[in-house]
Amino acid sequence: MKAGYIENHGSVENIKIGDVDTPKIGNLDILIKTEFAALNHLDLFVVQGWPGLNLKMPHVLGSDGSGTIKEIGSDVNTGFNVGDRVLINPGIGCGQCSHCLSGRQNFCSKFSILGENQNGTYAEYVKVPSSNVIKIPDSYPFDKAAAAPLTFLTAWRMLVTQAQIKSGEYVLIQGASGGVATAVIQIANFFNATTIVTTSSEEKVAKAKEIGADHVINYKQNPKYAKEVFKELTKKNGIDLVVDSVGTATFNTSLKLLRPGGRLVTCGATTGPKADLNISAIFWKQLKIFGSTMSNNQEFQDVMKLVLNGKFSPVIDKVFKLEELQDAERYLGEAKQFGKVLIKI
Ligand SMILES: [Zn+2]
Repeated sequence: MKAGYIENHGSVENIKIGDVDTPKIGNLDILIKTEFAALNHLDLFVVQGWPGLNLKMPHVLGSDGSGTIKEIGSDVNTGFNVGDRVLINPGIGCGQCSHCLSGRQNFCSKFSILGENQNGTYAEYVKVPSSNVIKIPDSYPFDKAAAAPLTFLTAWRMLVTQAQIKSGEYVLIQGASGGVATAVIQIANFFNATTIVTTSSEEKVAKAKEIGADHVINYKQNPKYAKEVFKELTKKNGIDLVVDSVGTATFNTSLKLLRPGGRLVTCGATTGPKADLNISAIFWKQLKIFGSTMSNNQEFQDVMKLVLNGKFSPVIDKVFKLEELQDAERYLGEAKQFGKVLIKI
């Protein structure tokens, strides 16, 4: 089958398009004929590699995807049929440990993301456990279905499970441009929060407003935005909840802007993982800091229901062909996008 894969770690130039073996499914797996896949920053990290990542090469990249069921494992009894239209939950637990059996798949020691430790979605066919597949309505387009999973499951767990967002709160979203931020803005609006978004260009300011952000700040034009946020937008009360996956560049500003008792939630650190923290701000203001990674299966089901019935709308920035995968990954690496970058398989 045709796929986008690497044979060696290195740069985006190492990504090849060519023939690899079609996956063979186990008795609890489902084989999906892929229609669309979506890019994530994880692709770039996998291409580079990291100590301890030992992939079987060639390795097919890609975490998000949608398509139709081609083949069903002999022990799958969850009501799927060949030809069903489906999307994929890219977070995969072992299914057998105490965490997985108690529904906390993202605490499993073997938890992995599709395309990270196992072959992913930039291929004509992809194999996943049946518990990672959900049906999509006939009227729901494959492109939006592929754009939704990783970003919405990540944003939902951060805001709802971890930070317990409440109606009327001021929520600051740092560095909005990728899919997760577009999901965070929509989920915060769903809970009737007031959203304040920082981003890097006038084009992204307009797009953030378009999807419902209440206040959007271009931090390149206004590097001292913290003052404006504190004095004018929150009337010196401070922010209730910050979503900061920018890391080094913003973490201290985020902590400074929180009101006493405020919360910060993070699912990544795009500008680096180290920060010179002012610990006194944490204890004096009694702040709460939450980490968050992916989601469990129930959170995935909960948020996908809302996506598939139209409460949330995945934002698609641009669609590339599979043959253009290198260009697509470069485009993502340069942070030119607002929303999801897709691959038509
Ligand atoms: Zn497990």
